[in-house]
Amino acid sequence: MRHVKVAVIGTGPAGYTAALYSARAQMAPIVFAGLEFGGQLMYTTDVENFPGFENGVRGPDLMMTMSKQAQRFGAEMEYSFVTAVDFSQRPFKLWTQSPTVGFDVYKKSSDQELAAAIAEVRAQEPTFTADSIILSTGATSIMLNVPGEQEFFAKGVSTCAVCDAAFYGEKETFVIGGGDSAMEDALALTKFATSVTLVHRRDSFKASKIMQDRVLNHPKIKVLWNSEVVEVIGKDTVTSLKIKTTNPATKQENIAEYPAQGMFVAIGHRPMTKVFSKEITLDPHGYIVTRQSATKWGVEAAQKAVTEDGLLEYPTMTSVEGVFAAGDVVDVRYKQAISSAGQGCMASLDAERWLERQGL
Ligand code: NDP
Repeated sequence: MRHVKVAVIGTGPAGYTAALYSARAQMAPIVFAGLEFGGQLMYTTDVENFPGFENGVRGPDLMMTMSKQAQRFGAEMEYSFVTAVDFSQRPFKLWTQSPTVGFDVYKKSSDQELAAAIAEVRAQEPTFTADSIILSTGATSIMLNVPGEQEFFAKGVSTCAVCDAAFYGEKETFVIGGGDSAMEDALALTKFATSVTLVHRRDSFKASKIMQDRVLNHPKIKVLWNSEVVEVIGKDTVTSLKIKTTNPATKQENIAEYPAQGMFVAIGHRPMTKVFSKEITLDPHGYIVTRQSATKWGVEAAQKAVTEDGLLEYPTMTSVEGVFAAGDVVDVRYKQAISSAGQGCMASLDAERWLERQGL
């Protein structure tokens, strides 16, 4: 068992930035890269909205550079997946041993199976103990899982209109979903695309009224109600979508092929919090609650952490003192590489200040 001052769990922009700041503050962080290091940007081709790169940068290149930059100052990469944690007392405990059932249990399994796997791991000696922890495990986009979707990912299929809308000038685009994200994506695309069609599986949106109104009153946006994409078709890039529409009265189904060059999947995200779910407070969607979460749960946590001077103490702290969180695993709202990196910086500065006050 090894003891560290700071353990960073997760290696997207938030984790690497937290590692960089912690390393430069001489806290010698250990950085758990998980099974797929680098996060979502490893699957992104061109990133044009990360400041400092006039001509854009490839996602994997950006992440490799961030990793090397953090290591240059002494961050230590640990290429393993954290399989269990104990935040009930300090120092915090971390395990990296695999449960007998394998790592898939952290992705798709019942709560009971997961609890059994974690209990099995925790019966062993922890691999690390840490004075403070920064959680930055990110979130994955939920996908439709239809034929062609994976094949054409980043070749016409996208999960981020804010990132990619500018590549779809003069193109026919489709946005899938009926929540606020889908509304936002559709509106973002109207600035560039020739046409924007929202495809929603029901006959009413789930999104907030104000967003619905903006979408429904926009001259460029059409809506296909009671409709689902059943196949993404293309050659090198997407060329059309097969969409099934159900008549709600007769239940009759009709499948038609629509010319399309872009499909934006906006049916929600899944924050990667299964390992911590029994240790810290999560919101009903599974996001970690910190004092700066842009939700009512974040506001409630913040109200309890305002000092006499009117300052918010440790904005990135979770419900457990000494455990901080940053990036998409916290952020229901922005989910940008740059906002994640900013939060990683804040989490490291909060951890540093908190450790100092503890005399650690
Ligand atoms: P939501 O969970 O709110 O919405 C997901 C949408 O996708 C729903 O309409 C759902 O349909 C649909 N959907 C889910 N699974 C499938 C599927 N397999 N096939 C087809 N459609 C599917 O996710 P969002 O990402 O939109 O929002 C998450 C949170 O973030 C919300 O609280 C939202 O308010 C917030 N947010 C706020 C923003 C803002 O205020 N500017 C911007 C973006 C998000 P159905 O309706 O039938 O369930």
